[in-house]
Amino acid sequence: MKLKRYWIKTFGCQMNQADSERIALTLEKQGYQRAASIDQADLIVINSCIVRQSAENRVYGLIRNLSAQMSKCPNVQIVLTGCLAGWALRGQKKTNLERLRKRVGPQVTIKLTEDLIETKFLADLGCLQLEDDAQADWAKIPISQGCNQLCSYCIVPYARGPEVYRPAAEILTEVNRFLSQGYRQILLLGQTVNSWKGKGKVKTFAQLLALVAQLAPQATINFVSANPWDFSDQLIEVIAKHPNISRTIHLPVQSGDNEILRRMRRPYTVEEYLALVKKIKQSIPGVKITTDIIVGFPGEDKAAFERTVKLCRQVNFARAFIGKYSPRPGTIAAQLYPDEVPPQEKKRRWWILENLINRKGVDKN
Ligand code: SF4
Repeated sequence: MKLKRYWIKTFGCQMNQADSERIALTLEKQGYQRAASIDQADLIVINSCIVRQSAENRVYGLIRNLSAQMSKCPNVQIVLTGCLAGWALRGQKKTNLERLRKRVGPQVTIKLTEDLIETKFLADLGCLQLEDDAQADWAKIPISQGCNQLCSYCIVPYARGPEVYRPAAEILTEVNRFLSQGYRQILLLGQTVNSWKGKGKVKTFAQLLALVAQLAPQATINFVSANPWDFSDQLIEVIAKHPNISRTIHLPVQSGDNEILRRMRRPYTVEEYLALVKKIKQSIPGVKITTDIIVGFPGEDKAAFERTVKLCRQVNFARAFIGKYSPRPGTIAAQLYPDEVPPQEKKRRWWILENLINRKGVDKN
C-alpha cells in the first residue's frame, strides 16, 4: 500500500505554528508521513491567518496556485483550517461560509483546527519540525484558545471563539514531557495568555507561570501575547523572582492616544499603560519591553499619531510590530468607522515608528 504523505503550510502567529505541530502529530499517528515538498503530498493542510487582508490574500493565492495544479493530480486533498476556516465555520451568518466556499472552490475542504487535532496524541508532542518553523527550538505550549476582548479592529475572537483554558495539570505534564525530550526553551501561548484562569489551587496565570518556572529551572520560560489589563502585580513579582523567566516582555499598546484606544476598545488609557511599564521596569531590572502598534486607525489625526510617537519615546521599546490599519470585514471598527487615513500617510507613519524603534534611526531621548 502506498504511504500517504502530508504537507502543512502555516501562515501567521505562533499559535498557528503550535496548532500545525499538533496537526502534524495527529496525521503521523494516523499513518501519514511528512512529504519532502508540497508537490509530493497527498494531503495539503493550509493553516490560515486573517489578521490582515494581505495575510488572507496570501492564502487565496496559494489555493489558486494549488487548484491550477490539481487538474493534473485529482487525488490530492486540500484542507483549509486556521483562522479563515474558524471565521467561516464559527460565524453566525451562513454567508461567511458560503462566500469562502465560493472563493476557494469545491475541491478544498474547510475544517476547524480542533477537528484536525486528536487531543489524546498531545502528550507525545515534541519531536516535530515544520517546514517553515523558525522557532523549532522552542517548546510551544498553548495554554488557552480564543479571546473574550473584542478589540474593535480584530477578527481573532470571531475566528477562534471565546477563551477556553487548558487545565494546569495538563500544561505542567506537557512542560515535563518537553523537558525530558531535551527542550530548554518553553513558550506559553495564548491570544491573551495572561488572562488564563484555572480551577482548583492554581487559579491565575501568575501562579501557573511560577509553577512552570520552578519545574524547569534550567529552561528559559517566555509567554505571548500578554495584555496590559491582566498584567497583575502578582505576575510582575513572579517574573522578578524567577531569573529563568524571559526579561523581554511583549506588551501590545496599539496606540498612544486615549481616544483611539477607546475606539479600538482597548480597556486602558495611555496613563495606565505608562504606569504599568514603570512598575515593570522598577521591579525587573534589565527588562525590555516589546509591543504591537497600529498606525492609521480611523480617527488617528496627526496630533493623535504624535502622541503615539511620544509614548514610544517614553517607553523606549526594544522592538515593535507595526501594522498599517486595514479594515477586516465583520469587525466592529469596519462597521463603525470609515478607513479615512490615506495609504501614503499610513506608510509615512509606519516609517516614522519603524525608524524610531526598530532601526534606532532617531534620537530616543
Ligand atoms: S486582545 Fe484584542 S487584539 Fe488581542 S486577540 Fe483579543 S481582540 Fe484581538
